[in-house]
Amino acid sequence: MASKSRDYAAKANPRNGRCRLISGNWKMNLNHLEAISLVQKLHYSFRESDYHFAEISVHPPFTSLRSIQLLLETDRVPISLGAQDCYFESSGAYTGEISASMLGKLGVRYVIVGHSERRELFGETDEIVAKKANAVIASQMTPIVCVGESMFQREEKQTETVIKSQVEAVVSSMSSELCEELVFAYEPKWAIGSGIPAESQDAVVGANAVRAAVSKYHGEMVANKVRVQYGGSVNSANAKEFLDQAEIDGLLVGGASLTAEAFTAIVQA
Ligand code: PEP
Repeated sequence: MASKSRDYAAKANPRNGRCRLISGNWKMNLNHLEAISLVQKLHYSFRESDYHFAEISVHPPFTSLRSIQLLLETDRVPISLGAQDCYFESSGAYTGEISASMLGKLGVRYVIVGHSERRELFGETDEIVAKKANAVIASQMTPIVCVGESMFQREEKQTETVIKSQVEAVVSSMSSELCEELVFAYEPKWAIGSGIPAESQDAVVGANAVRAAVSKYHGEMVANKVRVQYGGSVNSANAKEFLDQAEIDGLLVGGASLTAEAFTAIVQA
């Protein structure tokens, strides 16, 4: 694969000093051969300016991490490697689980924790999510902490309360130094995989609620360093509107990250 190499670090958004992060959560899709092919196509499609606009991460299933790591390192592809989950213990009798330190050894940079599918289908509580976030940090990676309300909670006007308690569970016992490195993804549950995205103003409300909860424990300066993505039915037609909001620092994309055409169109939107 042709190497674009050199300095492809994302530049800070001049409106707030934060670097955007656009992440593709592949969920339980694509085997390792398909995963390699997708990353090759993405790198071929991305322009140098795309890598400057935002850091781009892909989050394949665990079975593809090693293959993608080798591809990214060998061809010096400036896409960051991400995982979709991890366990909070570092090793031991936890059949089927993968530790954060194992992910760190694979060159993983970002680990999604507390995705709503994990919370709903696998019973992950705020406490477990907080432990996972801390395990990721302890292995020198960055957690992408997913928060967001259900449709029922939205209708009951509990959106900000739900976000507050989910964020507080993670940040309340963390040092400010570590907290400012966190990435949150505001993902209203009703928008995930539904084809019905939030309005950009709803996303701003969500991002503000995340920062208010961080600020309560660590002050405004730390809250303004924390990055907040929006996720939920993002596509090339709505991506720009979310990214135009100064409060939104990137996107967490599910379905539309599974083809090079759709994901590239979002990044270039
Ligand atoms: C997600 O899974 O985090 C997500 C946002 O999915 P989708 O983009 O398909 O709604």
